[in-house]
Amino acid sequence: MKYERTNVWDVLDEDELQALEAYSKRYIDFLSQAKTERLAHDFILDAAHKGGFIDLDEALEKGVKPGDKIVASNRGKGAALFVVGEDMLEGMDIVGAHIDSPRLDIKPNPLHEEGNMAYLRTHYYGGVKKYHWINLPLALHGVMFTNEGKKVDIHIGEDPNDPVFYINDLLIHLSSKQQEKKASEVIEGEQLQIVIGSKTSGSEDEKEPVASNIRNLLLEKYGIEEKDFLFAEIEATPAGPAREVGFDRSLIAGHGHDDRICSYAALEAILGAVPGKRTKVGLFVDKEEVGSIGNTGMKSHFFINTVAELIAASKEEYNELYLKRSLAKSRVLSADVSAAYDPQFKSLGVFEEQNTAWVGCGVAINKYTGSRGKSGSNDAHAEFLQEIRKIFDDNKVIYQTSELGAVDAGGGGTIAFILAEYGADVVDCGTAMLSMHAPIELASKADAYETFKAYEAFFK
Ligand code: MN
Ligand code: MN
Repeated sequence: MKYERTNVWDVLDEDELQALEAYSKRYIDFLSQAKTERLAHDFILDAAHKGGFIDLDEALEKGVKPGDKIVASNRGKGAALFVVGEDMLEGMDIVGAHIDSPRLDIKPNPLHEEGNMAYLRTHYYGGVKKYHWINLPLALHGVMFTNEGKKVDIHIGEDPNDPVFYINDLLIHLSSKQQEKKASEVIEGEQLQIVIGSKTSGSEDEKEPVASNIRNLLLEKYGIEEKDFLFAEIEATPAGPAREVGFDRSLIAGHGHDDRICSYAALEAILGAVPGKRTKVGLFVDKEEVGSIGNTGMKSHFFINTVAELIAASKEEYNELYLKRSLAKSRVLSADVSAAYDPQFKSLGVFEEQNTAWVGCGVAINKYTGSRGKSGSNDAHAEFLQEIRKIFDDNKVIYQTSELGAVDAGGGGTIAFILAEYGADVVDCGTAMLSMHAPIELASKADAYETFKAYEAFFK
């Protein structure tokens, strides 16, 4: 019998379609609000608290017991939500997603003026096509400190009454030379400079009247001086909310589907998880797009340190072996996005249609990712895949398998291999999407919903 993918839209009944639409609405709301890892973190913490999760410190003081719901925050940029099982040593069921997305970061010393315009210089974060970031309304999000040490949260460009920011492109009329360049050089990194003003009135500075006016404005409005940028962390993202796409409204366009589409699914799944034998974890990490580095990335010990704390607080005494046993018995869905087959790029031969996820055909299981012969990937075992298959089948999750493109067409990685190092069984399992890493990405509502159903089933 021939295997064929199932199209989610073909099989969902009226109740399920309604649940799908309601879920999509909540996800669009999250995607519109959680434009950065900090904002995603805040949303997740807030939802956890409302869902009855208590903070780690409080839990450690009280002692940890089965059924406890605990949330640990990592420096405002990562979080782990635990539904504690009967015995921490029985291992954990973990859904791990990342909440950082490709974007433009503002340089430490960014402000300058030229041609009667003031600019902020940027340094891109993650894998981007630089020409994507021009001609877009941009918002600024981040954190600054004044000289006196006052923390200032910056969020400008999302409210319809806010101004937005913009990066210029060259007019087509003068672009014959530019258009001969390779796509990777059409816009170069240092050209990603954000226009932030052009007014000279009111300035006494003859050399830099526009920048000087901006300096005054920043001081007046926000109490910020130029030197405060040196110690700030500000990100530029596309401005505005995520939107439904298509006459049939079956898709969602928004910034940061990678990986907030899996993050949100993991969040709803862990919030709804019922305490059981094994401990259940929704894990949200930062810095995946730049190699999972730093103390908020998956390679840091935040997660295992937190697990160690919970084990210590749930036992009479602590033994390092307990932690190792718990991790080695764990099962992980590495909740990250995959590429969906895009017929517009068929001629490039970068997709192998039979082994690429198709839009609308459910959550995508990637046995492996990597590049140049699976290099750098976690290659899940057939035995673990079979366990996952059974869970999904028993819970009527619609799934498909996927590879990240044709052999040798490129590739990519996820956080999967990191938890596998501790002995956990891991498989990549998330939503397939179009235009991955573009400022605005495209994903199917049906696939978003089936991703949630997959994580929900995994926690059952
Ligand atoms: Mn990702
Ligand atoms: Mn990515």
